[in-house]
Amino acid sequence: MAVDWIDLRSDTVTQPTPAMREAMARAPVGDDVYGEDPTVNALQQRLAIKLGFEDALFVPSGTQANLVALMAHCQRGDEYLVGMDAHTYKFEGGGAAVLGSIQPQPIAHASDGSLPLEAIERAIKPLDPHFARTRLLCLENTWHGRALPLDYLRDARALCERRGLRLHLDGARLFNAAVALQLPARDIAQFFDSVSVCFSKGLGAPVGSVLCGSRALIDEARRWRKVCGGGWRQAGMLAAACLHALDHHIERLAEDHARAARLAAGVRDLTAIRFAGQHTNMVFIDLAPAHLQAFRAHMEAAGVRLSIGYLPNIRMVTHLDLDDAAIERTLAALQSFAP
Ligand SMILES: *Cc1c(COP(=O)(O)O)cnc(C)c1O
Repeated sequence: MAVDWIDLRSDTVTQPTPAMREAMARAPVGDDVYGEDPTVNALQQRLAIKLGFEDALFVPSGTQANLVALMAHCQRGDEYLVGMDAHTYKFEGGGAAVLGSIQPQPIAHASDGSLPLEAIERAIKPLDPHFARTRLLCLENTWHGRALPLDYLRDARALCERRGLRLHLDGARLFNAAVALQLPARDIAQFFDSVSVCFSKGLGAPVGSVLCGSRALIDEARRWRKVCGGGWRQAGMLAAACLHALDHHIERLAEDHARAARLAAGVRDLTAIRFAGQHTNMVFIDLAPAHLQAFRAHMEAAGVRLSIGYLPNIRMVTHLDLDDAAIERTLAALQSFAP
């Protein structure tokens, strides 16, 4: 019998809803390399306006959105400052260096995930042939589920203005941050020169990310998208899923956050499992390493999948395809684990 998994590994695992599939099937399409796909154009225009930018570019993945952003901001021999554990440094195959000849300068995160402003300041290189040219600061929001405080973003922006740096946001989960802070997403986006947003995470689309920025930056990014093999044709069917998500899947992120909080409340007092934090749609737990194998087997036997091994903590992520019953079943499995 097929197992009806409760999949908490990531919010990327969602299936497109019947209504989303219908919107995809109905979408008018054209050749996007010629700029002629009306649904892609509608998505790009809508997100640019929503986040307060001149223009936007629809791409297949968050990795490609960040890569073409970095390549548009930086030239060969330039450098970007980035968190040591940031997706744009650690989880994108080193693409900026491999494909862009852009040097990353990783910076250690503070315990709240932010990059200390003094550390950023110290990492900026003097203009001297010994050094790469420091061009860009790259932040991530949400950071392991945390919404970065607006004051921090304002200060980071001021630093970039003062030191002549551009500022890019890996906003894969920007809308989770906006919903958690109860702010329009553009109040977060306003501090940045460019923002990438994933539609295949909490927003529930099957494919797609959008990069927003100035018209000049997006023109440059579109060129790099083509070079990277990301020029696509009748992509409007995918853009239609993203437009559907903008209409129907943003406010409901609050339900994912509430379910994550319910999970957190249920694991807080366990003894075999240590609760290590909950932010927006993510819950983190720890376990003695000796018990990890048994824990994984116990959870799989209960039909529950978790993310074990990528981060120091075990991660559980709530999403569109999990209801209250799935959360209660997960809690029952967690509570019955006895190493
Ligand atoms: C998922 C994710 C991305 C992009 O990942 P893709 O799988 O390439 O879409 C970028 N940044 C963060 C923080 C992410 O979680």
